[in-house]
This record gives sequence, structure tokens and C-alpha cells, in this order.
Amino acid sequence: MEKLIITVALTGNVPKKEQNPNLPVTPDEIAEDVKRCADEGASLFHVHARDSQEIPTLNRSVFEEIVGKIKKVAPNVIIQLSTGARAGKNWEDRITPVKLLPEMASFTTGSNNLPGIVYENSPQFIEYLASGFKETGVKPEIEVFETGMINNALYLVKKGLLEPPLHFDFVLGAPGAMPGTVKNLLFLSESIPADATWTVAGIGKAEIPLSAAATVMGGHVRIGLEDNLQMPDGSPASNVKLVRKIVTLAREIGRDIASPDEARAILGIPSENRDRILGRVDS
Ligand code: ZN
Repeated sequence: MEKLIITVALTGNVPKKEQNPNLPVTPDEIAEDVKRCADEGASLFHVHARDSQEIPTLNRSVFEEIVGKIKKVAPNVIIQLSTGARAGKNWEDRITPVKLLPEMASFTTGSNNLPGIVYENSPQFIEYLASGFKETGVKPEIEVFETGMINNALYLVKKGLLEPPLHFDFVLGAPGAMPGTVKNLLFLSESIPADATWTVAGIGKAEIPLSAAATVMGGHVRIGLEDNLQMPDGSPASNVKLVRKIVTLAREIGRDIASPDEARAILGIPSENRDRILGRVDS
């Protein structure tokens, strides 16, 4: 079996420090957490930006500060910036993370409900964002909250806006979207092209069980405080504790952990893209 890529969704847009003091929010806290998790075996980091009031932002300078600090302490990890909607609704703001030229950025190819909001990604916006990925060569992680989002991604391939092999993240267990069951994970993983790779982000209590399932099934794993604030025993989680939990599980199952360079090879990310970030910023 392919080595296991461990992604950490460090911060997200929703959790607050008062819910779990281990949540990294400032650029310094985020960079320190990346270093700790990378030392334990995580290779890919899904990054959101917050302002000084913990409010989600798509402000370029905040992203630049976070990325600059990560690059200092963990220069070889893969950085994936979020294009999620809670931080801003207008198209230009949402494409900002792609234009910063990270190796990867997230890309939700459809709309669904999430707690308190419609997570809106219209067909027009999806094509706009896909064009940004195409122009920059940033690798999208296609966030699938509902089955139709797979078909929408395949339509973009047909239109020449996305280039295979695709990489999917099945987000399961978010209130308002597909429940976090192994049955759903199996169905989704069998619904993507044979050359595609996939990871799973189980939300809340679904995080560790679905990670275990994906580890056995040959997929990859996304964990982190964005998706879940508690360890299985109910104690407060931290990103590094969650990484250790997955590394232990994978070892027990007999699956090796991918280094960042091994993860690049699995995902088809050219190694020369590693240091493009912040090197050329489109206006
Ligand atoms: Zn996110």
C-alpha cells in the first residue's frame, strides 16, 4: 500500500480558543504547531488565516505572515491554503490564497448547508476558481461534502479547467452534509477515477474512526482541530496529539507514513513548486 499522507487542518474558520486553548490562531502559534506536527509525521498542512480577534480573514498579508513563519521552522512541508467561504464572500478575496502560489489550495466544487450558513459555491464561481488553479498550476484539493461535487469536478476536467489526476478530500460528518459513516466513505472512494487520490476529513467524533478506515482502505487522512476538538476519550485534543494518534494507528496496521517529498510524489506535485509560494504574487 502507498505510504500514508497525514494532513493537519490546524485552525479552520469556526473553532475558538475558548473551546480549546490548544487551537493555534496567531501566525506564531500556527507555525509552531506545524513544526510540532511535522516532527511527528504530518506532511501536509491545511491553513486558514484569522485576524487578531480570531475572526476568519482572506487578507493577503495575514497569509503571507503565516506562510513566512511556517517556511522558517518547517521549510519542506506542503502548505495548502483554504479558499473557504466563511472568511469572505467575494470572488476576488476567495481566489487570493490560490494567487499566493502555495503548492495546494482547497476547492469545494458545489454548495451545501453547514452550521448556520449555506456554503455557497455557484457554478460560475467554481469555474472562476478552477481557472485560477489552471493558470497558477496550484494543485487543488477537491473538498467533497456531497456526492455531486465529484461529478462537478469531473465536468471541470472535461472542460479543460482541471487536470487529472485529481485529489479529493471527503468531508464527512459535518452537520448539513453527508454523515460520517464508513459506508459513505466506501461509496465516495469508489466513485472517483482510478487515477485519483483521496483523503478523508471526519468531522467531530467521526474523525478518528474514519481515519482508521481510510488507513486500512488505502486512502489518506486529514485530522486537526478545524474538524474535531476532542480526543476519542473526550479530553481536549491538540493537533500534535491527533497526529500521534494516527501515526500509532498506522503503525499498528502496518502502513508507513509519507514524508513531504513522498507526499508530493503521490499527489503529483512538481518539487519545483515547493518554493514558489510568495515568490510571485499576482496583483
Ligand atoms: Zn478548512
